[in-house]
Amino acid sequence: MQTGHAGGRVLSLVVSFVLVSFTLMMAFVPAGDSVRENPLPLSVAAGPPVPYDYSNYTDVELTLTAFQASYPHILSVNDIGDSWETTAGSGNRDILAVKISDNVAVDEDEPELLIMALHHAREWPTTEIAMQFVQSMIVGYGTDARISWLVDNREIWVIPVVNPDGLDYAMSVDDMWRKNRRDIESSPEFGVDLNRNYNGSENGDPAGDWGGVGSSDDPASEVYCGAAPFSEPELQAVRDFVDSHDFQIGIDFHSYGELVLWPWCYNSNITADNEDLIRIGNELAAVNGYTATQGIDLYPTTGDSTDWLYGHSNIFAYCIEVGSNTDGFHPPYKHDVDRILSQNVPVAILASELCGDKYGRAFDMVHSPPGSLNYSISGWELSVNITAARGVDTSALSLFIRVDSSPWSQVPLQVTASNDTYAGLVSPLPAGSTIDYYFVAKDLGGVERMLPSYSPYEVFTATVLAPASDPPVADAGGDAVVAMGVSCALDGSGSYDDVAIESYVWTFEDNGPQTLYGVAPEYTFVSPGVFNITLNVTDGEGQSSIDNVIITVYDGVAPVALAGADGMILTGGSFELNGSESTDNVAIVSWRWTFVYNGSDVVLVGEVMEFIFWTEGVYLITLNVTDAHGNWDAAEVTVTVLLQPIPEFSTILVPVLAVLLALMLCGRFKRRTSRSVK
Ligand SMILES: [Zn+2]
Repeated sequence: MQTGHAGGRVLSLVVSFVLVSFTLMMAFVPAGDSVRENPLPLSVAAGPPVPYDYSNYTDVELTLTAFQASYPHILSVNDIGDSWETTAGSGNRDILAVKISDNVAVDEDEPELLIMALHHAREWPTTEIAMQFVQSMIVGYGTDARISWLVDNREIWVIPVVNPDGLDYAMSVDDMWRKNRRDIESSPEFGVDLNRNYNGSENGDPAGDWGGVGSSDDPASEVYCGAAPFSEPELQAVRDFVDSHDFQIGIDFHSYGELVLWPWCYNSNITADNEDLIRIGNELAAVNGYTATQGIDLYPTTGDSTDWLYGHSNIFAYCIEVGSNTDGFHPPYKHDVDRILSQNVPVAILASELCGDKYGRAFDMVHSPPGSLNYSISGWELSVNITAARGVDTSALSLFIRVDSSPWSQVPLQVTASNDTYAGLVSPLPAGSTIDYYFVAKDLGGVERMLPSYSPYEVFTATVLAPASDPPVADAGGDAVVAMGVSCALDGSGSYDDVAIESYVWTFEDNGPQTLYGVAPEYTFVSPGVFNITLNVTDGEGQSSIDNVIITVYDGVAPVALAGADGMILTGGSFELNGSESTDNVAIVSWRWTFVYNGSDVVLVGEVMEFIFWTEGVYLITLNVTDAHGNWDAAEVTVTVLLQPIPEFSTILVPVLAVLLALMLCGRFKRRTSRSVK
């Protein structure tokens, strides 16, 4: 059978076909979340039969190049080796491996998936599945939560054409061609069956070795296994590629039969991972509706991809035979191929997800989103219940929070008193704030989970409610003086709230930090000093208010009086009495200065005083300082007051004064005279 891809087309036609094909494929992908529900709701409506335009190798290469140009940040096309004709110089076809991941240029520590197609030259729908899968991932990135999450958290590799020589030969010459295009020496035959050329099951069982049951050493056979394991350059490329990666799950698409097959394929022995292979196989088959069974149940094969991927690398490998018996290797009509694509592209998407936890270890995260948060000035705890069969890695638990579309911030999750519950603290926020948040956890086996599943493309959201009541008002009572070692009571009873105060907390330092609770707690101070005590009252909504009270605590230690330096002044001068150098271990409450002046007792009260002395003499002044507990001390200061000398009249000053006196007398006389005339 021929398709539209005859070998003789000119390049410009190839290019225009690819562009049209690309545009059509783009149109298949719906926008938004509907992708998640049904990644590819392709139309499979019956109608006038329309031929399907299958891709040949050049189509694939050009389409992938166009994809890479449009999505260089998440898709790269990699040449991992040559076809046989390329190595022989009779063709130019590379084995292309497409990588899809965020930071696509970097080999990140993310679970890896391998998708392969077209080992067999005539199984054209398999390449279409691989290409449609690639396109779904890149187009869905940023619009579909699940696909975006997978691109961010997986490294997905797709080899759309393992057998490029065979594909082009089947499309241009013989549409039932199966093998590659090796020209076998000393034989008129061509081709090795690339799905018999792997190195067997590698499990130590000779029955599973390359060249065993289900393969042939006759070059004329459709299942010719080649001259040696990995004799073919196409599979050498696959082998080296697999060995340089850490794939968790591999799917090799073939046609036809509507089967999901897992190892072993060489006989009916079961693998050590049989239960997990069955579990995942059933999950994949539930998506495409195919029959899930061990590979041997189709027919025995050795040297196939699934046995080698599993036996060599413990990759959970599936051979999926797409299309019905009616479809055959490549159904000619579009609606049949569209049906096959809609069955199997979602299988590849599911496999991307499952490869993060191929052993399916029980690992649950449960959170009841509150939707809204009651106003609180102390913030909130957001908690999640986490259980993991292999244990929770408590060093890798995080709560991610975004307030009003600000950047994400990370809060560690702490173990709480109740089993399996971990909580992260959200700082207080104004009423009306909106927070988005999600949880990330790991089990001790390194499997990572998020809640919601595709965070941060899916998030929980909560809004901070307005306070329902007024904040309280704190009143810590009046300042007081108390003696050390004697119990005293603080008094917060003047505090009030429009509903009720829920807590009174008093904090201060007395030989270390102290915290007292209650409206009027008793306390005995152990240190003298002036204590600034803070009362914090909180209402039922976490609104709080603070007030302070000063408590002065005295002991039996007396102050030390210092009355300042002695001094000498002239009569009429002022002398400053300065007691500010006096000290006390707590505080001085009174300064009294006493002395005798002109035969009378003088008492001045104050730390710094002024006194004007009009009388000469030597004055002994006593300063008496007292603390509030009555402890006192005295000191003295001496003030010597000298007589102000009378200025001597000079020979110039006397005549000047005489003239001034004469002028004044003259003025008085003139005024009196003029008044009498009037
Ligand atoms: Zn096949």
